[in-house]
Amino acid sequence: MVENNKNDEKPEVKEEDQKKEEEQEEVEIKTDAEEPKAKFTFRCTRTDKCCLSRGPIPITFWDLELWAKNGVVANFLPYLDVYNKPNGGIDLILKPLPPPPKEGDEEKPRDPFGGIPIEELLDVKCPLYNKENKECLVYDNRPLSCRTYPLEFDGKNYTVVDVDCPGVGEEGMTKEDLKDMRNTAKQMFYELTRMRIALPVLTQLISQKVMMDLMKQNMEAMSKMSDEDRSQLDEILKKGQEPQPE
Ligand code: SF4
Repeated sequence: MVENNKNDEKPEVKEEDQKKEEEQEEVEIKTDAEEPKAKFTFRCTRTDKCCLSRGPIPITFWDLELWAKNGVVANFLPYLDVYNKPNGGIDLILKPLPPPPKEGDEEKPRDPFGGIPIEELLDVKCPLYNKENKECLVYDNRPLSCRTYPLEFDGKNYTVVDVDCPGVGEEGMTKEDLKDMRNTAKQMFYELTRMRIALPVLTQLISQKVMMDLMKQNMEAMSKMSDEDRSQLDEILKKGQEPQPE
């Protein structure tokens, strides 16, 4: 459930950005649909459409810091994944939960995230949305991306990424609300940029470290092998290199 709440923790906003925001009281929003520019008003109607079909929610350092501060990182770990996007980028995401198997499809317990390529899960429910109770299970710790949806900032313009969101066009948004939402959208842009710069470096470093540790473990295991075990292993490796019959 995505809603801006005045009591929620607000992301920090740089002073110079704040000044510019104050000079510009209203914002014209460019939509994806290239429709004529319209003044943006929004009020979350709690229909939860976004939580049901938003696809992978990008996670930023701001979220990780919030979760660490609130002692809830471990609760999120099972749902986090690294998504290699088709355009070559990498995002840390909340991995979408596949729909439950249809009746008679599968009897035994399954790994909820296992086996299904992420590309097939891009348009399904957020794993942290409880459909029966219609509520976000982590509302106080929900990601920054959920706090700014459906408004995004790309470094230059604000965009409504879901013009069909039922809250778009709803009356009742004050200037203060709009300013808060713009600030959150900007913060999301900065935080996502930070994460997208850091993540490829971190994943490379971590996989190198894992490889080195594995090699070290293998070498240690081999050094403890008897001569007999070692010659058996040599035989197995030799067989593996022989050409296989077609
Ligand atoms: S984390 Fe919560 S608010 Fe965000 S998409 Fe999931 S259920 Fe909705």
